[in-house]
Amino acid sequence: MDTYATDIFEQLKGASKLLYLINPYETIFEFPHQVPDYHKQIWLPFFVLIFLEQIILVSKKKRKIRLNDQVTSLSHWLFQETGRILFRGAEYYAYIVINERYGWWSLPWNSLWTWCVTAVGVDFCYYWVHRSNHEVHFLWAQHQVHHSSEEFNLAVGLRQSVLQHWCNFVFYLPLALFIPPSHFIAHNQFNLIYQLWIHTTVIDDLGPIELIFNTPKHHRVHHGCNLYCLDKNYGGVLIIWDRLFGTFMEEKKEDEIIYGLVVSPRTFNPVYLQVFYTVQMITKSIGMSNLTDKLAVVWKGPSWFPGSPRLGLDEYKINVTSRIKYDNYIPSWQNFYIIVHFYLVFYQHVQLYDEPPQDLKTLPSGLILINNLFALTTFGLLFDKSSYAGLVEFVRCIVYLSTSTIHNSLNWCMYYIYGSSCCVWILYFLCTIKSNFANIRDS
Ligand SMILES: [Zn+2]
Ligand SMILES: [Zn+2]
Repeated sequence: MDTYATDIFEQLKGASKLLYLINPYETIFEFPHQVPDYHKQIWLPFFVLIFLEQIILVSKKKRKIRLNDQVTSLSHWLFQETGRILFRGAEYYAYIVINERYGWWSLPWNSLWTWCVTAVGVDFCYYWVHRSNHEVHFLWAQHQVHHSSEEFNLAVGLRQSVLQHWCNFVFYLPLALFIPPSHFIAHNQFNLIYQLWIHTTVIDDLGPIELIFNTPKHHRVHHGCNLYCLDKNYGGVLIIWDRLFGTFMEEKKEDEIIYGLVVSPRTFNPVYLQVFYTVQMITKSIGMSNLTDKLAVVWKGPSWFPGSPRLGLDEYKINVTSRIKYDNYIPSWQNFYIIVHFYLVFYQHVQLYDEPPQDLKTLPSGLILINNLFALTTFGLLFDKSSYAGLVEFVRCIVYLSTSTIHNSLNWCMYYIYGSSCCVWILYFLCTIKSNFANIRDS
């Protein structure tokens, strides 16, 4: 019990990493494999912050808790984390190879200066990574996942494309010529971790800090789809890059910021949200009359059309000034059901972090992975009030229950919950059939 309490205390101490308050002497390593997975150290404090943010918003009567949007954001996070578990940092491979072959001017790994130069260098590259994610259509097709929520809260910080790291790693490769991989891997994580807390409406103005650092106030502008917000404030930790390269925009108090994509996809299905934009981009490309334009659709800006500048013309962009948010009423028992099953998915996901890579290929781990992704998709269907959501969820529960029973991989508690869930759906189908018969009889 004492060890458990110490573990939790240690994890809560990790909260300082959310603000880039890090002791360099504790985070300098010689070899890449020695660098810890810092993301794992901040999840607990960050989830505490998500919970506190919702309490503050509800107590100020600013918002009601939107379970559908929160669960969708967390589902994207679980999708991306599953990718991270499976890829095992393979995207760093090219960086390490370039450093080994061409890093003749590599800075010393055990120097405080190297730590500081890397912090700034990684943030400088992040600015260009992020700007490219908005200005190059095929990169935007992935990055739009992060912008797909009509809300702006801490959970949105976790909403990412599964392929986001793979789209970004190329932009950091010039650093491999002079920055040791161990420093790069550590700061790449710190840089992304810092960007989690800036997704909130709870924090207003931070005074002189706003001049140098990226803050919630600046990042709110970045997530707005009002015309004045589009393609602004790309910075990660520092906002000075936007001020230097002409992409900075101050928040306008008189214009309420409308969050989300200019054309909102109106669904909570995480799989659809991950892929729909890529399909739209391919369709647009196929619709062009010649090969040059077909390719230009892919590498020019998302608003580009033949005859316009690379990023399209502002006069043809939609100025979103108001929006009715996509929201559906679903019965309380379904909300409760989703909370219980989301917790199960989360619990099983956490077990996978500790699995050795070879064990991830085993059937029980594979079953957990597939079931988790299947479950998150069905939650989206339930929030969307899809007519086949209940049937899909019933099939998921019964398949997982039977396959896990064969492999003896469920504890009694999960066995009980999955068994009860199957009964709930059978009852639901019987009630639906009964009410349909009653409707036919009445008419
Ligand atoms: Zn962005
Ligand atoms: Zn963001």
